[in-house]
Amino acid sequence: MRVTAARRVQGFARFVDVDWGRPGLHDAPSLGRLVPQTTIDARLMTEMTEPTPPHDNALRAMTDDGAFRVVTLRTTDTVTRAIAAQEAAGPGASLLAELITSAILVRETMAPTHRVQVLLTSPDRKQRLVADAYPDGGTRGLITRLAGNDRFSIDGWTMEVLRSLHNGDVHRGVVAVPTGGGMSEALMVYLQSSEQVASMLSVACVWSGALVRCSGGYLVQLLPEVGRAPLAIMAERLRDFQKVDALLEQLDAAPGPMVDELLYGMPFTRLEERPLSWKCRCSAVRVMSSLATLPRADVQEIIDAGQPVELTCDFCRQVYTLSPTQLGGLLDQS
Ligand SMILES: [Zn+2]
Repeated sequence: MRVTAARRVQGFARFVDVDWGRPGLHDAPSLGRLVPQTTIDARLMTEMTEPTPPHDNALRAMTDDGAFRVVTLRTTDTVTRAIAAQEAAGPGASLLAELITSAILVRETMAPTHRVQVLLTSPDRKQRLVADAYPDGGTRGLITRLAGNDRFSIDGWTMEVLRSLHNGDVHRGVVAVPTGGGMSEALMVYLQSSEQVASMLSVACVWSGALVRCSGGYLVQLLPEVGRAPLAIMAERLRDFQKVDALLEQLDAAPGPMVDELLYGMPFTRLEERPLSWKCRCSAVRVMSSLATLPRADVQEIIDAGQPVELTCDFCRQVYTLSPTQLGGLLDQS
């Protein structure tokens, strides 16, 4: 006997949700900042002689009149890795890219120090995409096979956002993708209806043939005290950026130049810039805990078969092999 594909998927589908609310979930250090002291000199030398290639970043800024908060993202490398890990192509790959950028936008806007997961599900619930964004800037994505074609549309799909809170609870909001709208429109509706955040935003992935040329987005949040005049000016300014594709392409999605462009002529202050990357969270320990959610009889059945069990992480496709002895330990604990 071997673990069926269906059961594998089911185990890991639950794994997607199991992590929520687990104590210590958000204690992971921001690895991007832990640079050993001894390597800094070498790095500086390298930076002086070679141009640094652009990398993924999130930038937060605020206009000096306090009326608008802005987030700009470059997610090119993050979505490229996620698409490769999922072997996604066509409309599904674009959707996954936009969903990942959306999840990071929500995290940077609502909860920079907490985890955000965004799920996009078809009406028959057979097709689903997941983006899972963590406070250390690491994000991963998951996609089920899409029965898509050139006229693929997400009309009638649902967008669900799960966001962990300071007290360990999870804030959950669900909206329908507006008819004729895409990811950006759905995200705006979510922010307005579930978070009471008025925003103008756009996410996009620009392709060069089968390769991601650049990916990213921006969000301009209107703060409650904003007056009519600045709002009118901002709305007029953002008319050119309703679709962010051209801006991304022109600036290689660099967050700094994007803010400069979006807020051109407006005094503003850069608040924080943080690195982003693709990163999976699976480990042998997490695989074991996902198996622990299976019925005891099912685990016993696998052990009785006497064969090692292979489980594949749905996010990164890493394969974990567990021996019957290891599985036996699972039953001893429960
Ligand atoms: Zn993984």
